[in-house]
Amino acid sequence: VIEAGQPEHSVVTTCAYCGVGCAFKAEMQGESVVRMVPFKGGKANEGHSCVKGRFAWGYATHKDRIVKPMIRDRITDPWREVSWEEAIGRAAGEFRRIQAQYGRDAVGGITSSRCTNEETFLVQKLVRAGFGTNNVDTCARVCHSPTGYGLKQTFGTSAGTQDFRSVDHSDVVLVIGANPTDGHPVFASRLKKRLRAGARLIVADPRRIDLVKTPHVRADHHLQLLPGSNVALINALAHVVVTEGLVDEAFVRERCDLQHFEVWARFIAEERNSPEATQAITGVPAEEVRAAARLYATGGAAAIYYGLGVTEHSQGSTMVMGMANLAMVTGNIGRDGVGVNPLRGQNNVQGSCDMGSFPHEFSGYRHVSDDATRDMFEALWGRELSAEPGLRIPNMLDEAVDGAFKGLYIQGEDIAQSDPNTQHVVAGLMAMECVVIQDIFLNETAKYAHVFLPGSSFLEKDGTFTNAERRISRVRKVMAPLAGMADWEVTMALSEALGYPMAYTHPSEIMDEIARLTPTFAGVSYARLDELGSVQWPCNDAAPEGTPIMHVDRFVRGKGQFMITEFVPTQERTGPRFPLILTTGRILTQYNVGAQTRRTANLVWHDEDVLEIHPFDAESRGVRDGDLVSLTSRSGEISLRALLTDRMQPGVVYTTFHHAVTGANVVTTDYSDWATNCPEYKVTAVEVRRTNHL
Ligand code: SF4
Repeated sequence: VIEAGQPEHSVVTTCAYCGVGCAFKAEMQGESVVRMVPFKGGKANEGHSCVKGRFAWGYATHKDRIVKPMIRDRITDPWREVSWEEAIGRAAGEFRRIQAQYGRDAVGGITSSRCTNEETFLVQKLVRAGFGTNNVDTCARVCHSPTGYGLKQTFGTSAGTQDFRSVDHSDVVLVIGANPTDGHPVFASRLKKRLRAGARLIVADPRRIDLVKTPHVRADHHLQLLPGSNVALINALAHVVVTEGLVDEAFVRERCDLQHFEVWARFIAEERNSPEATQAITGVPAEEVRAAARLYATGGAAAIYYGLGVTEHSQGSTMVMGMANLAMVTGNIGRDGVGVNPLRGQNNVQGSCDMGSFPHEFSGYRHVSDDATRDMFEALWGRELSAEPGLRIPNMLDEAVDGAFKGLYIQGEDIAQSDPNTQHVVAGLMAMECVVIQDIFLNETAKYAHVFLPGSSFLEKDGTFTNAERRISRVRKVMAPLAGMADWEVTMALSEALGYPMAYTHPSEIMDEIARLTPTFAGVSYARLDELGSVQWPCNDAAPEGTPIMHVDRFVRGKGQFMITEFVPTQERTGPRFPLILTTGRILTQYNVGAQTRRTANLVWHDEDVLEIHPFDAESRGVRDGDLVSLTSRSGEISLRALLTDRMQPGVVYTTFHHAVTGANVVTTDYSDWATNCPEYKVTAVEVRRTNHL
């Protein structure tokens, strides 16, 4: 007799939230999940989990799930439920009409870092081969695209250098622009364990995050810099290394491009990059910077961990290269305990980038203009492929507003809430003639859509996710798709209706194709994953069991390349009208736009975004703790409650973007990273006033 709540069997799968990629056992009664239990055999989490993965999976069967396809002629019309055939036929017909009327490049697609590698791969295949354009982009555009760019320039590969286990060997840890306690809790626990065992800690963050001072952990240095000054700070740290004789000369001589190093060393040694000269930019006392640089360079194995506080700036890519410079000049690459490690936000950010979701790159980060690569894809896909890079998400929206871009297929993304300057995003969506949304909920973006294709949650499909340490893990189906089709099947149906049929019978066959076309995935198969549990790419003949640490004997690009990292201030300026700087982040119990975590009944989750403000700034505006305040920028205005806290420094305020009702991105700007267009979410000039209404 099975009692209520007692599992009959369990299935090992992977958490669908953050980039740690914890393995879980889904304990089942029939097709119902009873519990999610962290899996001891999971190499990323070793039996640990946080509240989100453990308790916030109920959204999969929430009453808000849309399980019937829907269409409408105009966005002011009510939705009409239709058959899959009619919905797919409408989407394909509209895309074909738009291409016939406005040209092949008037349409495009957006993939999701929440979806599996296989689903992402299919969307970019549909866009490149089915639509015949490279107008495909991923939501990684708005988070870690500078990581891809910066690490490729310096090291030769667009990924972090270490596995999580590596931190157990670190003597010094430099955390920049990341709040692991809230954003990557299971990794944070591992890091704190190492710190309690004696590793030293440097935190560079505008906020006094939990890591700065928490039970039994205290940062040696908190470099509480002003938002927008990252590059000045990293240059100052490197300046100390170079001018105080702390360079690892043997490493630089053997492993790095010496010509580039010499040019860079002259640049970084200039007085304008010194801690004293940059103090007015960063707000960090020069002596504190000097002490932190000495600790990083001489304290033993030193690792850098970073997050969106690095990438979401107009100089995001420059900052990534600045961290790579610092690691190379001190020899902190290619062994346990060191490295440059992005803490990826979403569960499959790394994977969605690996799978060729960028408009200029096929899977494995090979440029679309490379003839040999294109020949290989054309031979297998049976279509001529464009050698011209396509549009990025912001360019799609700009061109839509200008009237040239007309049709968009979005799988698993809510750009109307997550992307910056909501008014501009909405204007772009409203200017399009066909917006097709594939999602599990009727999200904010769906307000501007013409076709809604029901998506499937991670519990309803087979596939793989790739976490922040390049670890590819299986996602296993525990229940049938509520809408009757898994996401990969929907993309296949759409592709067939567009006249480009695909013939997969299971996601494992998609992975086989990925392995065939992508050298870093050449040894990956579902059989290998079942055998090993998970594997870190590169996984191929040279490394059949995967690669925990990269760049061990040589950099992927050959010699490591130092890059000039000139500090350029953001164009966003404070002034009399907008005297404060807003920066944004997350809390532990919510996940991104909150679509999943807000639909869980298991815990008392935070129910609103709040504005953290220093008591000094609050008092001068007559704002008390808990007051409603309006937050105004050059882009727009929102209202939310004030939380007075000395976590903030005077002049800087902070909020999260988990709730559509608050709409934090109404106030963020259009400025973006010079190399990748990653939005500058982290620096917005604002003013705060008391108000009476939300
Ligand atoms: Fe692990 Fe991240 Fe999921 Fe938490 S949200 S259980 S840390 S993967």
